[in-house]
Amino acid sequence: MKHFFIDHLSRPFIFNQCLSCQRFMINKNSYCPSCWKFIFNHSHSYPHKINTSSFTLNIYPLLNWSRENNPLIYPLIHQIKSGVNHSLSNWLAKNWLFQYGHLGLFNDPKINSKKPLLFIPAPTLRKHNQAYDLAKGLADLLGGQAADILALTPQSSSDLSISQKSLNKLQRVNRKIEIKISDDELLFFQSHFKIVIVDDVVTTGATALACIKALKIISPPIVCIAYRVKTSVH
Ligand SMILES: [Zn+2]
Repeated sequence: MKHFFIDHLSRPFIFNQCLSCQRFMINKNSYCPSCWKFIFNHSHSYPHKINTSSFTLNIYPLLNWSRENNPLIYPLIHQIKSGVNHSLSNWLAKNWLFQYGHLGLFNDPKINSKKPLLFIPAPTLRKHNQAYDLAKGLADLLGGQAADILALTPQSSSDLSISQKSLNKLQRVNRKIEIKISDDELLFFQSHFKIVIVDDVVTTGATALACIKALKIISPPIVCIAYRVKTSVH
């Protein structure tokens, strides 16, 4: 007991603050229990299907949010979009798995032998891709791999004056996603792995759809942290 105590004290003490109420915590969680409970009770985890002309997108968000129903989710969205925070991603990956792990999403009923999982993050133009961290977190937890093989083509300089918000849905769908690997490598991935697309925040589903088209695969599960529902849920 004495030995344990000394050992414990000799380690650097890691402070951690709740992203919402700033309360200090001595674990690696991103939110304190009461803030997380508030967020979760207002968001829930339930899947969505978005039908497009050629695909059905199956989206599995940890949180569903709208402007009205969850003010506390904003610091989280901001944190996801802005920073490099590996522990946040790992924590979110664990929470995601806790909600959906029992569904067997990653088992392919058509295939007898289980294929290894390949988590492919949706690309971003931001310097740091939080979706990759999340993909890595899920891969670590489930024994799969994360492969950063998609790239978002930067908009031309004339497009840059138009903010993303003002682009209509179709233009966003047409935003170009490129594959960073050869055709042979893509074929290998398609046939030997169970592919899961990972994104941080899904709004229209346009990026996920573009990823599916680029990867030429049929209806992979799309895992995300937050999905923005169009109408408020009360
Ligand atoms: Zn808190």
